Amino acid sequence: MLIEGMARIRDNIRDILTSLPGHVELVAATKSRSVEEILEAIEGGVKIVGENYTREAEEKFRAIGSKVKWHFIGHLQKNKVKKAVRIFDMIETIDSVEIAAAIDKACAEIKKVMPVLIEVNSGKEENKSGVLPEDTENLIKDMSGFKNIKPVGLMTMGPFFENPEDYRQYFKAARQLFDRIKINYDIKYLSMGMSDSYHIAIQEGASLVRIGAGIFGPRIQ
Ligand SMILES: *Cc1c(COP(=O)(O)O)cnc(C)c1O
Repeated sequence: MLIEGMARIRDNIRDILTSLPGHVELVAATKSRSVEEILEAIEGGVKIVGENYTREAEEKFRAIGSKVKWHFIGHLQKNKVKKAVRIFDMIETIDSVEIAAAIDKACAEIKKVMPVLIEVNSGKEENKSGVLPEDTENLIKDMSGFKNIKPVGLMTMGPFFENPEDYRQYFKAARQLFDRIKINYDIKYLSMGMSDSYHIAIQEGASLVRIGAGIFGPRIQ
């Protein structure tokens, strides 16, 4: 990547970090970005990176290590769980008790407690990952016997919109669900909002925003 591109990464991060309220943390979504770009982002102040694929994350983790926190933000397959629990500090996309059980077991083997977010299918879209809003609290309840996985919040994508303002109703609904579950469970994080929608997500109560293109430019791959 050109020097100008690298400088732009740092400028983008500075602009984003200055605009975030103090209680909101930035997750740099780094799928398809190079180790060099990610290191530049870390230099620019990024503390958390979000990766979608275990194999891609493994290569990058080998080069970058623990100077940044690693969040898993993709769809986790059962046969990748053992690898994933070694790399990641948080898994944001739990949507079944089966995957939670597999993570619990793999974490017990390496004596780790994994903080996780429940991914909510807030648009109730077919063929989308995530648990339905009405099933979310039950999933957390079903996980209460697990010792090595700890639900600490919710994550949602929402349907795709051209107009960012259209995300608002889904973010609002996710926040209401978060507040209801918080009555019974000790949850802290609400991960929602991407490059085009994070301003709206923050207005609606996000505490983690996941930004890729807004940091690194449009994805080519
Ligand atoms: C890629 C990705 C993002 C970031 O999307 P941008 O539009 O590039 O900001 C956020 N969340 C998830 C789950 C992603 O896969």
